[in-house]
Amino acid sequence: MGQESLILPRDESNERLVRNVHPPDWKNPEPASRYNLVVLGAGTAGLVAAAGAAGLGAKVALIERKLLGGDCLNVGCVPSKGIIRSGRAAYDVKKAAEFGVNGGPEVSIDFGKVMERMRRIRAGISRHDSVERFSNELGVDVFLGDGRFTGRDAVEVGGKLLRFRKAAICTGARPAAPAIPGIEEAGYLTNENVFWLTELPKRMIVLGGGPIGCELSQTFARLGSRVTLLHAHGHILPREDADAAEIIQQSLLRDGIKLLLNAKILRAARRGPEKIIIMDRNGKKEEMAADEILIGIGRAPNVEGLDLEAAGVEYDKREGIKVNERLQTSNPDVYAAGDICFPYKFTHTADAMARIVIANALFMARQKTSRLVIPWCTYTDPEVAHVGMYEKEAREKGIDVLTLTIPLTEADRALLDGETEGFARVHLKKGSGRILGATVVARHAGEMISELSLAMTAGLGLSAVGRTIHPYPTQAEVIKKLAEAYNRTRLTPFIKKMFTAWLKWQRR
Ligand SMILES: Cc1cc2nc3c(=O)[nH]c(=O)nc-3n(C[C@H](O)[C@H](O)[C@H](O)COP(=O)(O)OP(=O)(O)OC[C@H]3O[C@@H](n4cnc5c(N)ncnc54)[C@H](O)[C@@H]3O)c2cc1C
Repeated sequence: MGQESLILPRDESNERLVRNVHPPDWKNPEPASRYNLVVLGAGTAGLVAAAGAAGLGAKVALIERKLLGGDCLNVGCVPSKGIIRSGRAAYDVKKAAEFGVNGGPEVSIDFGKVMERMRRIRAGISRHDSVERFSNELGVDVFLGDGRFTGRDAVEVGGKLLRFRKAAICTGARPAAPAIPGIEEAGYLTNENVFWLTELPKRMIVLGGGPIGCELSQTFARLGSRVTLLHAHGHILPREDADAAEIIQQSLLRDGIKLLLNAKILRAARRGPEKIIIMDRNGKKEEMAADEILIGIGRAPNVEGLDLEAAGVEYDKREGIKVNERLQTSNPDVYAAGDICFPYKFTHTADAMARIVIANALFMARQKTSRLVIPWCTYTDPEVAHVGMYEKEAREKGIDVLTLTIPLTEADRALLDGETEGFARVHLKKGSGRILGATVVARHAGEMISELSLAMTAGLGLSAVGRTIHPYPTQAEVIKKLAEAYNRTRLTPFIKKMFTAWLKWQRR
Protein backbone atom coordinates (compact mmCIF):
# COMPACT_ATOMS: atom_id res chain seq x y z
CA MET A 1 0.00 0.00 0.00
CA GLY A 2 1.46 3.37 -0.99
CA GLN A 3 1.91 6.09 1.60
CA GLU A 4 -0.55 8.30 -0.27
CA SER A 5 -3.47 6.02 0.50
CA LEU A 6 -2.36 5.72 4.15
CA ILE A 7 -2.12 9.35 5.18
CA LEU A 8 -1.94 12.86 3.72
CA PRO A 9 -0.39 15.38 3.22
CA ARG A 10 3.07 14.10 2.36
CA ASP A 11 5.17 16.28 4.60
CA GLU A 12 8.15 15.62 6.85
CA SER A 13 5.97 14.81 9.89
CA ASN A 14 3.75 12.34 8.07
CA GLU A 15 6.76 10.68 6.46
CA ARG A 16 8.24 10.25 9.95
CA LEU A 17 4.93 8.85 11.14
CA VAL A 18 4.75 6.36 8.27
CA ARG A 19 8.40 5.34 8.77
CA ASN A 20 7.45 4.52 12.35
CA VAL A 21 4.08 2.85 11.96
CA HIS A 22 4.14 1.39 8.43
CA PRO A 23 7.73 1.45 7.16
CA PRO A 24 7.53 1.17 3.34
CA ASP A 25 10.58 -1.11 3.15
CA TRP A 26 9.40 -3.49 5.90
CA LYS A 27 9.90 -7.22 5.21
CA ASN A 28 7.61 -9.51 7.16
CA PRO A 29 9.60 -12.03 9.23
CA GLU A 30 9.52 -15.81 8.80
CA PRO A 31 6.76 -17.06 11.10
CA ALA A 32 7.60 -19.12 14.20
CA SER A 33 6.39 -22.72 14.17
CA ARG A 34 3.60 -21.71 16.59
CA TYR A 35 2.73 -18.55 18.51
CA ASN A 36 1.37 -18.26 22.02
CA LEU A 37 -0.63 -15.29 20.75
CA VAL A 38 -1.44 -13.94 17.29
CA VAL A 39 -2.95 -10.45 17.43
CA LEU A 40 -4.96 -9.12 14.47
CA GLY A 41 -5.01 -5.34 14.35
CA ALA A 42 -2.45 -2.98 15.90
CA GLY A 43 -4.63 -0.24 17.36
CA THR A 44 -4.61 0.34 21.10
CA ALA A 45 -6.08 -3.07 21.95
CA GLY A 46 -3.69 -4.96 19.67
CA LEU A 47 -0.60 -3.04 20.71
CA VAL A 48 -1.31 -3.41 24.42
CA ALA A 49 -2.09 -7.13 24.03
CA ALA A 50 1.08 -7.75 21.98
CA ALA A 51 3.41 -5.68 24.17
CA GLY A 52 2.01 -7.09 27.42
CA ALA A 53 2.14 -10.72 26.27
CA ALA A 54 5.66 -10.41 24.83
CA GLY A 55 6.82 -8.69 28.01
CA LEU A 56 5.68 -11.74 29.98
CA GLY A 57 7.66 -14.10 27.74
CA ALA A 58 5.07 -15.12 25.13
CA LYS A 59 5.94 -15.61 21.46
CA VAL A 60 3.70 -13.05 19.78
CA ALA A 61 2.79 -12.10 16.20
CA LEU A 62 1.11 -8.75 15.49
CA ILE A 63 -0.67 -8.12 12.18
CA GLU A 64 -1.61 -4.66 10.87
CA ARG A 65 -2.90 -3.73 7.44
CA LYS A 66 -2.58 0.05 7.69
CA LEU A 67 -0.86 2.10 10.39
CA LEU A 68 0.19 0.74 13.78
CA GLY A 69 -1.44 2.88 16.44
CA GLY A 70 -4.85 2.43 14.76
CA ASP A 71 -7.57 5.05 15.11
CA CYS A 72 -6.31 6.62 18.32
CA LEU A 73 -2.90 7.67 17.05
CA ASN A 74 -3.70 8.33 13.42
CA VAL A 75 -7.31 9.44 12.99
CA GLY A 76 -8.86 9.73 16.46
CA CYS A 77 -7.80 10.87 19.92
CA VAL A 78 -4.37 12.22 19.07
CA PRO A 79 -5.11 14.43 16.05
CA SER A 80 -8.46 15.58 17.47
CA LYS A 81 -7.00 16.61 20.82
CA GLY A 82 -4.12 18.28 18.98
CA ILE A 83 -6.40 20.63 17.06
CA ILE A 84 -8.79 21.04 19.99
CA ARG A 85 -5.86 22.62 21.84
CA SER A 86 -5.38 25.12 19.02
CA GLY A 87 -9.11 25.92 19.13
CA ARG A 88 -8.83 26.61 22.85
CA ALA A 89 -5.82 28.85 22.27
CA ALA A 90 -7.86 30.88 19.74
CA TYR A 91 -10.74 31.12 22.21
CA ASP A 92 -8.43 32.20 25.05
CA VAL A 93 -6.90 34.94 22.91
CA LYS A 94 -10.40 36.22 22.09
CA LYS A 95 -11.30 36.22 25.77
CA ALA A 96 -7.99 37.74 26.92
CA ALA A 97 -9.40 41.27 27.40
CA GLU A 98 -11.65 39.87 30.16
CA PHE A 99 -8.43 39.17 32.09
CA GLY A 100 -7.04 42.64 31.50
CA VAL A 101 -4.82 41.44 28.67
CA ASN A 102 -5.39 43.34 25.45
CA GLY A 103 -4.59 41.16 22.48
CA GLY A 104 -7.18 42.85 20.29
CA PRO A 105 -10.56 41.39 19.40
CA GLU A 106 -9.40 40.14 15.98
CA VAL A 107 -7.64 36.80 16.18
CA SER A 108 -5.75 35.61 13.15
CA ILE A 109 -5.51 31.85 12.80
CA ASP A 110 -3.06 30.05 10.56
CA PHE A 111 -4.91 26.79 9.90
CA GLY A 112 -1.93 25.36 8.04
CA LYS A 113 0.19 25.80 11.16
CA VAL A 114 -2.53 24.35 13.39
CA MET A 115 -2.50 21.14 11.34
CA GLU A 116 1.29 21.14 11.02
CA ARG A 117 1.63 21.34 14.81
CA MET A 118 -0.77 18.43 15.23
CA ARG A 119 1.12 16.33 12.63
CA ARG A 120 4.47 17.09 14.26
CA ILE A 121 3.27 16.03 17.72
CA ARG A 122 1.54 12.93 16.33
CA ALA A 123 4.72 11.89 14.53
CA GLY A 124 6.63 12.25 17.81
CA ILE A 125 4.09 10.14 19.69
CA SER A 126 4.16 7.49 16.93
CA ARG A 127 7.60 6.32 18.02
CA HIS A 128 5.91 4.55 20.93
CA ASP A 129 3.71 2.54 18.54
CA SER A 130 6.44 1.92 15.97
CA VAL A 131 7.27 -1.29 14.12
CA GLU A 132 10.89 -0.72 15.22
CA ARG A 133 9.95 -0.63 18.93
CA PHE A 134 7.63 -3.61 18.73
CA SER A 135 9.97 -5.81 16.73
CA ASN A 136 13.41 -4.84 18.05
CA GLU A 137 12.71 -3.74 21.61
CA LEU A 138 9.71 -5.89 22.53
CA GLY A 139 10.54 -8.97 20.42
CA VAL A 140 7.14 -9.11 18.67
CA ASP A 141 6.98 -10.53 15.11
CA VAL A 142 5.29 -7.69 13.20
CA PHE A 143 3.49 -8.53 9.94
CA LEU A 144 2.15 -5.77 7.69
CA GLY A 145 -0.81 -6.91 5.58
CA ASP A 146 -4.39 -8.14 5.81
CA GLY A 147 -4.83 -10.91 8.34
CA ARG A 148 -7.48 -13.59 7.87
CA PHE A 149 -8.28 -16.89 9.52
CA THR A 150 -7.68 -20.10 7.57
CA GLY A 151 -8.87 -22.40 10.34
CA ARG A 152 -9.54 -22.60 14.08
CA ASP A 153 -5.85 -22.20 14.95
CA ALA A 154 -4.24 -20.44 11.99
CA VAL A 155 -4.11 -17.03 10.36
CA GLU A 156 -2.72 -16.05 6.97
CA VAL A 157 -0.99 -12.75 6.18
CA GLY A 158 0.90 -11.87 3.00
CA GLY A 159 1.05 -15.52 1.93
CA LYS A 160 2.47 -16.66 5.30
CA LEU A 161 0.69 -19.03 7.66
CA LEU A 162 0.77 -18.25 11.38
CA ARG A 163 -0.29 -21.05 13.73
CA PHE A 164 -1.42 -20.09 17.20
CA ARG A 165 -2.44 -21.42 20.59
CA LYS A 166 -4.49 -18.27 21.18
CA ALA A 167 -5.50 -15.35 18.99
CA ALA A 168 -6.87 -11.90 19.76
CA ILE A 169 -9.06 -10.04 17.27
CA CYS A 170 -8.44 -6.32 17.76
CA THR A 171 -9.49 -5.00 14.35
CA GLY A 172 -11.48 -2.02 15.66
CA ALA A 173 -14.19 -0.06 13.87
CA ARG A 174 -14.49 2.50 11.07
CA PRO A 175 -16.98 5.22 10.15
CA ALA A 176 -20.15 3.49 8.93
CA ALA A 177 -21.18 4.40 5.38
CA PRO A 178 -23.93 7.01 5.87
CA ALA A 179 -27.37 5.92 4.65
CA ILE A 180 -28.08 9.30 3.03
CA PRO A 181 -29.14 9.29 -0.62
CA GLY A 182 -26.74 11.36 -2.75
CA ILE A 183 -24.00 11.63 -0.10
CA GLU A 184 -21.42 9.73 -2.18
CA GLU A 185 -21.89 12.14 -5.12
CA ALA A 186 -21.82 15.17 -2.82
CA GLY A 187 -18.64 13.94 -1.13
CA TYR A 188 -17.96 14.04 2.60
CA LEU A 189 -15.29 13.91 5.28
CA THR A 190 -15.04 11.49 8.19
CA ASN A 191 -12.49 11.18 10.97
CA GLU A 192 -10.39 9.15 8.49
CA ASN A 193 -9.62 12.17 6.29
CA VAL A 194 -10.66 15.34 8.14
CA PHE A 195 -7.20 15.53 9.72
CA TRP A 196 -5.69 15.53 6.23
CA LEU A 197 -7.08 19.03 5.59
CA THR A 198 -4.52 21.75 4.91
CA GLU A 199 -7.03 24.53 4.27
CA LEU A 200 -9.85 25.55 6.54
CA PRO A 201 -13.29 24.95 5.01
CA LYS A 202 -15.10 28.30 5.14
CA ARG A 203 -18.46 26.64 5.77
CA MET A 204 -18.88 23.23 7.29
CA ILE A 205 -21.90 21.05 7.99
CA VAL A 206 -21.31 18.53 10.77
CA LEU A 207 -23.72 15.61 11.04
CA GLY A 208 -24.21 14.22 14.54
CA GLY A 209 -24.20 15.88 17.95
CA GLY A 210 -22.43 13.03 19.74
CA PRO A 211 -18.93 13.40 21.21
CA ILE A 212 -17.04 13.42 17.88
CA GLY A 213 -19.50 15.83 16.23
CA CYS A 214 -19.48 18.22 19.19
CA GLU A 215 -15.70 18.21 19.67
CA LEU A 216 -14.97 18.83 16.00
CA SER A 217 -17.81 21.36 15.48
CA GLN A 218 -16.52 23.50 18.31
CA THR A 219 -12.92 23.21 17.16
CA PHE A 220 -13.58 24.12 13.52
CA ALA A 221 -15.81 27.00 14.65
CA ARG A 222 -13.07 28.31 16.92
CA LEU A 223 -10.55 27.97 14.10
CA GLY A 224 -12.77 30.13 11.89
CA SER A 225 -15.22 27.89 9.97
CA ARG A 226 -18.90 28.77 9.85
CA VAL A 227 -20.21 25.54 11.31
CA THR A 228 -23.74 24.17 11.22
CA LEU A 229 -24.28 21.15 13.45
CA LEU A 230 -27.20 18.91 12.53
CA HIS A 231 -28.50 16.54 15.15
CA ALA A 232 -31.39 14.09 14.91
CA HIS A 233 -32.60 14.53 18.49
CA GLY A 234 -33.82 17.45 20.61
CA HIS A 235 -30.53 17.72 22.48
CA ILE A 236 -26.87 17.11 21.75
CA LEU A 237 -24.86 14.51 23.72
CA PRO A 238 -28.00 12.44 24.44
CA ARG A 239 -26.12 9.99 26.68
CA GLU A 240 -25.21 12.69 29.22
CA ASP A 241 -27.42 14.30 31.89
CA ALA A 242 -29.64 16.94 30.26
CA ASP A 243 -28.19 19.81 32.32
CA ALA A 244 -24.63 18.75 31.44
CA ALA A 245 -25.51 18.61 27.73
CA GLU A 246 -27.27 21.98 28.01
CA ILE A 247 -24.06 23.64 29.25
CA ILE A 248 -22.20 22.28 26.20
CA GLN A 249 -25.04 23.28 23.90
CA GLN A 250 -24.88 26.88 25.16
CA SER A 251 -21.11 26.88 24.79
CA LEU A 252 -21.38 25.71 21.14
CA LEU A 253 -23.92 28.45 20.44
CA ARG A 254 -21.60 31.05 21.96
CA ASP A 255 -18.85 29.80 19.66
CA GLY A 256 -21.11 30.81 16.77
CA ILE A 257 -22.23 27.31 15.77
CA LYS A 258 -25.64 27.13 14.12
CA LEU A 259 -27.32 24.23 15.84
CA LEU A 260 -30.18 22.54 13.99
CA LEU A 261 -31.86 20.02 16.28
CA ASN A 262 -34.48 17.42 15.34
CA ALA A 263 -33.03 17.41 11.84
CA LYS A 264 -34.06 14.42 9.75
CA ILE A 265 -31.69 14.29 6.81
CA LEU A 266 -33.47 13.47 3.57
CA ARG A 267 -30.65 13.60 1.03
CA ALA A 268 -27.45 15.24 -0.06
CA ALA A 269 -26.46 16.76 -3.39
CA ARG A 270 -23.64 18.54 -5.15
CA ARG A 271 -24.14 21.96 -6.75
CA GLY A 272 -20.92 23.14 -8.38
CA PRO A 273 -18.37 23.41 -5.58
CA GLU A 274 -21.10 23.38 -2.93
CA LYS A 275 -22.27 20.41 -0.93
CA ILE A 276 -25.94 20.47 -0.02
CA ILE A 277 -27.92 18.76 2.71
CA ILE A 278 -31.70 18.63 2.42
CA MET A 279 -33.49 17.92 5.67
CA ASP A 280 -36.85 17.83 7.35
CA ARG A 281 -37.15 19.85 10.54
CA ASN A 282 -40.42 19.72 12.41
CA GLY A 283 -42.29 18.91 9.19
CA LYS A 284 -40.60 21.66 7.13
CA LYS A 285 -38.13 21.00 4.34
CA GLU A 286 -34.86 22.94 4.73
CA GLU A 287 -31.67 23.12 2.72
CA MET A 288 -28.11 23.93 3.81
CA ALA A 289 -25.03 24.47 1.66
CA ALA A 290 -21.38 24.19 2.71
CA ASP A 291 -17.86 23.62 1.42
CA GLU A 292 -17.49 20.41 3.41
CA ILE A 293 -19.77 17.91 5.12
CA LEU A 294 -18.24 16.10 8.09
CA ILE A 295 -19.92 12.94 9.28
CA GLY A 296 -19.57 12.29 13.00
CA ILE A 297 -22.11 9.51 13.43
CA GLY A 298 -22.08 5.74 13.18
CA ARG A 299 -19.28 3.23 13.61
CA ALA A 300 -19.09 -0.16 11.87
CA PRO A 301 -16.95 -3.03 13.23
CA ASN A 302 -14.11 -4.28 10.99
CA VAL A 303 -15.30 -7.87 10.62
CA GLU A 304 -15.09 -8.13 6.84
CA GLY A 305 -12.27 -10.08 5.22
CA LEU A 306 -11.27 -11.87 8.43
CA ASP A 307 -12.87 -15.20 7.36
CA LEU A 308 -14.30 -15.53 10.84
CA GLU A 309 -16.36 -18.53 9.70
CA ALA A 310 -13.13 -20.49 9.16
CA ALA A 311 -12.20 -19.92 12.80
CA GLY A 312 -15.71 -20.62 14.12
CA VAL A 313 -15.99 -17.08 15.48
CA GLU A 314 -19.54 -15.71 15.67
CA TYR A 315 -20.16 -12.08 14.84
CA ASP A 316 -22.76 -9.53 13.87
CA LYS A 317 -22.15 -7.02 11.07
CA ARG A 318 -23.40 -4.12 13.23
CA GLU A 319 -22.38 -5.16 16.75
CA GLY A 320 -19.09 -6.84 15.88
CA ILE A 321 -17.53 -9.99 17.36
CA LYS A 322 -19.61 -11.78 19.96
CA VAL A 323 -17.70 -12.28 23.21
CA ASN A 324 -18.52 -13.43 26.71
CA GLU A 325 -17.57 -11.41 29.79
CA ARG A 326 -14.09 -12.92 29.69
CA LEU A 327 -13.72 -11.67 26.09
CA GLN A 328 -13.72 -15.18 24.68
CA THR A 329 -15.42 -15.69 21.30
CA SER A 330 -17.39 -18.76 20.22
CA ASN A 331 -13.96 -20.31 19.49
CA PRO A 332 -12.49 -20.69 23.01
CA ASP A 333 -8.95 -20.11 21.70
CA VAL A 334 -9.88 -16.82 20.05
CA TYR A 335 -10.45 -13.65 22.09
CA ALA A 336 -11.40 -10.12 21.07
CA ALA A 337 -10.77 -6.68 22.55
CA GLY A 338 -11.51 -3.02 21.80
CA ASP A 339 -13.97 -1.39 19.42
CA ILE A 340 -14.53 -4.63 17.51
CA CYS A 341 -16.55 -6.13 20.35
CA PHE A 342 -17.45 -3.52 22.97
CA PRO A 343 -20.09 -0.80 23.14
CA TYR A 344 -17.83 1.60 25.08
CA LYS A 345 -15.52 2.58 22.24
CA PHE A 346 -12.60 4.31 23.93
CA THR A 347 -8.85 3.94 23.89
CA HIS A 348 -8.67 3.35 27.62
CA THR A 349 -11.29 0.56 27.45
CA ALA A 350 -9.41 -1.05 24.54
CA ASP A 351 -6.30 -0.94 26.75
CA ALA A 352 -8.10 -2.41 29.78
CA MET A 353 -9.66 -5.18 27.67
CA ALA A 354 -6.30 -6.12 26.15
CA ARG A 355 -4.98 -6.67 29.67
CA ILE A 356 -7.94 -8.95 30.43
CA VAL A 357 -7.20 -10.92 27.24
CA ILE A 358 -3.55 -11.46 28.25
CA ALA A 359 -4.56 -12.72 31.70
CA ASN A 360 -7.42 -14.94 30.50
CA ALA A 361 -5.92 -16.28 27.27
CA LEU A 362 -2.38 -16.94 28.46
CA PHE A 363 -2.64 -17.47 32.21
CA MET A 364 -6.05 -19.12 32.63
CA ALA A 365 -7.37 -16.17 34.67
CA ARG A 366 -11.10 -15.46 34.73
CA GLN A 367 -11.17 -11.67 34.62
CA LYS A 368 -14.43 -10.07 33.51
CA THR A 369 -15.30 -6.85 31.68
CA SER A 370 -18.28 -6.37 34.00
CA ARG A 371 -15.81 -5.57 36.81
CA LEU A 372 -14.37 -2.61 34.91
CA VAL A 373 -15.09 0.90 36.14
CA ILE A 374 -15.15 2.89 32.91
CA PRO A 375 -14.84 6.67 32.82
CA TRP A 376 -15.09 8.72 29.65
CA CYS A 377 -14.80 12.32 28.62
CA THR A 378 -16.06 14.50 25.79
CA TYR A 379 -13.38 17.09 25.10
CA THR A 380 -15.56 20.07 24.35
CA ASP A 381 -15.00 23.30 26.26
CA PRO A 382 -16.07 22.80 28.98
CA GLU A 383 -15.49 19.05 29.04
CA VAL A 384 -18.07 16.52 30.23
CA ALA A 385 -16.66 13.51 32.03
CA HIS A 386 -18.62 10.61 33.42
CA VAL A 387 -17.99 7.36 35.29
CA GLY A 388 -20.28 4.53 36.35
CA MET A 389 -24.07 4.81 36.44
CA TYR A 390 -26.38 7.70 35.68
CA GLU A 391 -29.15 8.38 38.20
CA LYS A 392 -31.84 6.99 35.88
CA GLU A 393 -29.84 3.82 35.32
CA ALA A 394 -29.41 3.26 39.07
CA ARG A 395 -33.11 3.81 39.71
CA GLU A 396 -34.01 1.38 36.91
CA LYS A 397 -31.88 -1.21 38.72
CA GLY A 398 -33.98 -0.61 41.84
CA ILE A 399 -31.18 1.09 43.77
CA ASP A 400 -32.12 3.77 46.29
CA VAL A 401 -30.00 6.70 45.06
CA LEU A 402 -28.82 9.90 46.70
CA THR A 403 -27.63 12.44 44.10
CA LEU A 404 -25.54 15.44 45.12
CA THR A 405 -24.46 18.28 42.83
CA ILE A 406 -22.04 21.14 43.55
CA PRO A 407 -21.74 23.96 41.01
CA LEU A 408 -18.26 25.04 39.95
CA THR A 409 -18.98 28.51 41.33
CA GLU A 410 -18.34 26.94 44.75
CA ALA A 411 -14.66 26.50 43.86
CA ASP A 412 -12.62 29.70 44.28
CA ARG A 413 -10.19 28.51 41.60
CA ALA A 414 -12.96 28.27 39.02
CA LEU A 415 -13.94 31.87 39.84
CA LEU A 416 -10.32 33.02 39.56
CA ASP A 417 -9.87 31.15 36.28
CA GLY A 418 -13.12 32.54 34.86
CA GLU A 419 -14.21 28.94 34.29
CA THR A 420 -17.35 28.64 36.35
CA GLU A 421 -19.53 26.81 33.87
CA GLY A 422 -20.12 23.34 35.15
CA PHE A 423 -20.63 21.17 38.18
CA ALA A 424 -19.59 17.99 39.93
CA ARG A 425 -22.29 15.41 40.59
CA VAL A 426 -22.18 12.11 42.38
CA HIS A 427 -24.73 9.33 42.75
CA LEU A 428 -24.49 7.39 45.99
CA LYS A 429 -26.19 4.29 47.32
CA LYS A 430 -28.42 5.88 49.93
CA GLY A 431 -27.17 5.37 53.47
CA SER A 432 -23.80 3.88 52.47
CA GLY A 433 -21.64 6.51 50.77
CA ARG A 434 -20.86 3.97 48.04
CA ILE A 435 -20.27 5.81 44.77
CA LEU A 436 -22.45 4.48 41.95
CA GLY A 437 -21.52 7.06 39.35
CA ALA A 438 -20.44 10.62 38.81
CA THR A 439 -20.46 13.41 36.21
CA VAL A 440 -18.13 16.39 36.10
CA VAL A 441 -18.59 19.33 33.74
CA ALA A 442 -15.56 21.61 33.86
CA ARG A 443 -12.85 22.91 31.59
CA HIS A 444 -10.60 20.02 32.69
CA ALA A 445 -13.30 17.54 33.74
CA GLY A 446 -11.32 14.69 32.16
CA GLU A 447 -8.54 15.30 34.68
CA MET A 448 -10.97 15.64 37.59
CA ILE A 449 -13.02 12.47 37.07
CA SER A 450 -10.08 10.15 37.87
CA GLU A 451 -10.34 10.86 41.59
CA LEU A 452 -13.89 9.51 41.58
CA SER A 453 -12.93 6.60 39.28
CA LEU A 454 -10.20 5.64 41.75
CA ALA A 455 -12.66 5.78 44.65
CA MET A 456 -15.07 3.54 42.74
CA THR A 457 -12.39 1.08 41.60
CA ALA A 458 -10.92 0.76 45.08
CA GLY A 459 -14.36 0.57 46.72
CA LEU A 460 -13.73 3.74 48.72
CA GLY A 461 -16.82 5.62 49.77
CA LEU A 462 -17.24 9.36 49.26
CA SER A 463 -16.16 9.91 52.88
CA ALA A 464 -12.62 8.81 51.92
CA VAL A 465 -12.61 11.54 49.26
CA GLY A 466 -13.75 13.98 51.96
CA ARG A 467 -10.86 12.96 54.25
CA THR A 468 -8.37 13.61 51.43
CA ILE A 469 -6.73 17.03 51.62
CA HIS A 470 -7.12 18.88 48.33
CA PRO A 471 -4.72 21.72 47.55
CA TYR A 472 -6.31 25.16 47.68
CA PRO A 473 -7.26 26.66 45.28
CA THR A 474 -8.07 23.93 42.75
CA GLN A 475 -11.20 23.21 40.76
CA ALA A 476 -11.07 19.63 42.11
CA GLU A 477 -12.17 21.06 45.46
CA VAL A 478 -15.75 20.74 44.18
CA ILE A 479 -15.29 17.00 44.51
CA LYS A 480 -14.27 17.38 48.15
CA LYS A 481 -17.28 19.66 48.61
CA LEU A 482 -19.47 16.81 47.33
CA ALA A 483 -18.11 14.72 50.19
CA GLU A 484 -18.81 17.52 52.67
CA ALA A 485 -22.36 17.77 51.33
CA TYR A 486 -22.69 14.02 51.84
CA ASN A 487 -21.40 14.29 55.41
CA ARG A 488 -24.05 16.94 56.10
CA THR A 489 -26.76 14.49 54.98
CA ARG A 490 -25.49 12.11 57.67
CA LEU A 491 -26.08 14.74 60.35
CA THR A 492 -29.60 13.59 61.19
CA PRO A 493 -31.73 15.71 63.57
CA PHE A 494 -31.12 13.09 66.27
CA ILE A 495 -27.29 13.18 65.91
CA LYS A 496 -27.37 16.99 65.76
CA LYS A 497 -29.41 17.04 68.98
CA MET A 498 -26.83 14.77 70.66
CA PHE A 499 -23.95 17.01 69.52
CA THR A 500 -25.75 20.13 70.75
CA ALA A 501 -26.43 18.51 74.12
CA TRP A 502 -22.77 17.41 74.44
CA LEU A 503 -21.45 20.88 73.59
CA LYS A 504 -23.90 22.50 76.00
CA TRP A 505 -22.72 20.16 78.74
CA GLN A 506 -19.09 21.21 78.00
CA ARG A 507 -20.02 24.88 78.56
CA ARG A 508 -21.51 24.21 81.97
C1 LIG B 1 -12.36 11.37 16.02
C2 LIG B 1 -12.21 10.39 17.15
C3 LIG B 1 -11.75 10.85 18.37
C4 LIG B 1 -11.59 9.96 19.42
N1 LIG B 1 -11.17 10.46 20.62
C5 LIG B 1 -11.03 9.62 21.66
C6 LIG B 1 -10.55 10.11 22.91
O1 LIG B 1 -10.27 11.29 23.07
N2 LIG B 1 -10.40 9.22 23.93
C7 LIG B 1 -10.70 7.89 23.77
O2 LIG B 1 -10.55 7.13 24.73
N3 LIG B 1 -11.14 7.40 22.60
C8 LIG B 1 -11.30 8.23 21.54
N4 LIG B 1 -11.72 7.72 20.34
C9 LIG B 1 -11.99 6.27 20.22
C10 LIG B 1 -10.68 5.48 20.05
O3 LIG B 1 -9.94 6.00 18.98
C11 LIG B 1 -10.99 4.01 19.82
O4 LIG B 1 -11.85 3.55 20.82
C12 LIG B 1 -9.71 3.15 19.86
O5 LIG B 1 -8.83 3.56 18.87
C13 LIG B 1 -10.08 1.68 19.65
O6 LIG B 1 -8.91 0.91 19.58
P1 LIG B 1 -8.94 -0.55 18.91
O7 LIG B 1 -7.58 -1.11 19.12
O8 LIG B 1 -10.09 -1.30 19.39
O9 LIG B 1 -9.22 -0.29 17.36
P2 LIG B 1 -8.47 0.59 16.26
O10 LIG B 1 -7.72 1.70 16.85
O11 LIG B 1 -9.51 0.89 15.24
O12 LIG B 1 -7.40 -0.41 15.64
C14 LIG B 1 -7.77 -1.50 14.83
C15 LIG B 1 -6.65 -1.77 13.85
O13 LIG B 1 -6.90 -3.02 13.19
C16 LIG B 1 -6.51 -2.90 11.84
N5 LIG B 1 -7.18 -3.94 11.06
C17 LIG B 1 -8.50 -4.06 10.80
N6 LIG B 1 -8.74 -5.19 10.10
C18 LIG B 1 -7.55 -5.79 9.91
C19 LIG B 1 -7.15 -6.98 9.27
N7 LIG B 1 -8.02 -7.80 8.67
N8 LIG B 1 -5.83 -7.29 9.25
C20 LIG B 1 -4.92 -6.48 9.83
N9 LIG B 1 -5.25 -5.35 10.46
C21 LIG B 1 -6.55 -5.01 10.51
C22 LIG B 1 -6.91 -1.48 11.47
O14 LIG B 1 -6.19 -1.04 10.33
C23 LIG B 1 -6.57 -0.72 12.74
O15 LIG B 1 -5.27 -0.17 12.71
C24 LIG B 1 -11.88 8.58 19.25
C25 LIG B 1 -12.33 8.11 18.01
C26 LIG B 1 -12.49 9.00 16.97
C27 LIG B 1 -12.96 8.46 15.66
